[in-house]
Amino acid sequence: MDVFDAHAVGARGELAAIVYPRLVLRDPTQHQRARALIARWEARSDQPDWPCPCGEPNPAAFETCWACGRERP
Ligand SMILES: [Zn+2]
Repeated sequence: MDVFDAHAVGARGELAAIVYPRLVLRDPTQHQRARALIARWEARSDQPDWPCPCGEPNPAAFETCWACGRERP
C-alpha cells in the first residue's frame, strides 16, 4: 500500500488546484487496513492545525512538519 501526495494537502489554501493524497492498494488483502487509514485521515482533516516547535503551523493530517520535517509531537 502506497500513499502519494500526502504532503500536498497543506498547500490547498495556497494553490489554485486542490490536491488530495492518493492511496494505491497493491495487495487486495489490505483493503480493510486501507479503509481504516482513509477513515483516520478524514477524521483528522476536521481537526485544527498543530504548531511545530519551529514556529510553522501544520494541517492536522500532517504527521511531520512541512517546513522542518520534525515528527508531530
Ligand atoms: Zn517544523
